[in-house]
Amino acid sequence: MTEPGEFVPGRPGDPEYETATRVFNLAAPVHPAAAVTARSVDEVRAAVRHAAAAGLGVRMFTSGHGAGAARPMPEALLIRTELGGGVEVDPAGRVARVPAGTRAGELVAATAKHGLTSAHGSSANVGLVNYLLGGGLSGYGRFAGLAVNGVRAVELVTADGVARRVDAEHDPELFRALRGGGGGFGVVTAVEVALFPAGQLVGGATYWAGELAEAVLARWNAWTTDAPREVTTGLRLLNLPAVPGVPPALAGRTTVCVDGLVRAGSAGEARRLADDLLRPLYALGEPLADTWSVLTAEGVLGIHMDPPEPVPFLGEHHLLSTLDSQGEAELLRLLGAGSGSPFVGAGLRQLGGAFATAPEGAGVLGHLDAAFSFAASGVPDPSGPERLLARCAQLRTGLEPWRTGRTVPNFVEHFEQPQRHLDDDEVAAVDRVRLRVDPAGLFRGDIAPNATALV
Ligand SMILES: Cc1cc2nc3c(=O)[nH]c(=O)nc-3n(C[C@H](O)[C@H](O)[C@H](O)COP(=O)(O)OP(=O)(O)OC[C@H]3O[C@@H](n4cnc5c(N)ncnc54)[C@H](O)[C@@H]3O)c2cc1C
Repeated sequence: MTEPGEFVPGRPGDPEYETATRVFNLAAPVHPAAAVTARSVDEVRAAVRHAAAAGLGVRMFTSGHGAGAARPMPEALLIRTELGGGVEVDPAGRVARVPAGTRAGELVAATAKHGLTSAHGSSANVGLVNYLLGGGLSGYGRFAGLAVNGVRAVELVTADGVARRVDAEHDPELFRALRGGGGGFGVVTAVEVALFPAGQLVGGATYWAGELAEAVLARWNAWTTDAPREVTTGLRLLNLPAVPGVPPALAGRTTVCVDGLVRAGSAGEARRLADDLLRPLYALGEPLADTWSVLTAEGVLGIHMDPPEPVPFLGEHHLLSTLDSQGEAELLRLLGAGSGSPFVGAGLRQLGGAFATAPEGAGVLGHLDAAFSFAASGVPDPSGPERLLARCAQLRTGLEPWRTGRTVPNFVEHFEQPQRHLDDDEVAAVDRVRLRVDPAGLFRGDIAPNATALV
């Protein structure tokens, strides 16, 4: 165990610093004053006490997938959380304890052995703590709701250096604020998350040439209006580069893709629901590639083909209301074939279903009042992000009539993009909790922009 007095964080140039500041998003390098990788609760406590004594703010990272959304951190100690112990599954209680640092792939593998799964996201490498506490849009989402609603307890070290476990009975006010409140409450060291039977799964992605995008978008959009809750899908316009891992048929051109996951009680029902979605789409034209198939719980992580290795990216995100034909046309004008879109991927994740309702006892962000989550992501030019940022601004303006004015913390890729996750009274409520648990503002720099009036 590290005693507080012995704690020495890495400084720029130290190997410890270089390891702790590694980010998945290579377009968002971070330069804190000091950095450390914490592998136990005691190390987290020592780091928090050191920062308080040294007059540094505290910032946290797990994987750096969300590095672009983080405010700059010059006067801060960055704590990278890689806590040990592994995922603990209680199959009878249908809950898993997940130490901070755990990636989605580890949780999915641990729960699959019991025929269970969770409302995880599309990538195996994303850190679970912030995926969960920042909302969490899952392929199971229209059945399971926002992933944050599955959080049963949070373990954290607060600004006083004390390790706490909060849940619905123990400090329910802090427990509510932690779930979607935008951060700035402490260093999370573990979460307990609800599990459910994986059921029978069918999922995948179908890709067509970009010239078919108008027809595919119209038909998919019409299907979403009364789609069953067992099915969660997305539509993306892709400009994939010719690099290893990208099928040659999809590289170097604009394509349109419909991907998704069906979870049903029987294999026949899962296949029927997938067929209801896909048959009308297949009738529009021959796909360039098609991966829809019966899946295992672990196979679900392959649907989206997210990059496994660090990449540079920058983008724009907004929640959208239902799209009329004008909205479809605007989306294609901005992002379709011939638009000159610089975005590698841009599209709509289908909401509705259980996403639309906050369960009893939910956190401050428990549901989404929108039809789609829009996100576009591209690689900034080596000379700088200006060209991409200008295209982000065009997306913002063009999609204005359909934007709800809301965003989800997880999907923000640039901390300066307009964002709004909570109502004013909810911001005031979570700020009251911050002032109680962190009166000196040790964690203020970590709060998502627009989720506080304190910064
Ligand atoms: C390829 C890719 C696929 C994605 N797929 C999905 C998806 O399907 N659904 C979805 O909802 N989102 C998705 N995301 C978004 C993802 O959920 C967010 O980027 C999320 O913030 C990543 O969490 P992280 O801890 O890995 O990232 P990090 O960049 O390490 O952390 C982001 C923020 O989380 C906070 N944080 C991290 N660790 C701790 C801790 N221990 N204690 C307290 N705060 C902490 C900090 O504020 C930090 O700035 C995806 C992102 C990428 C790049």
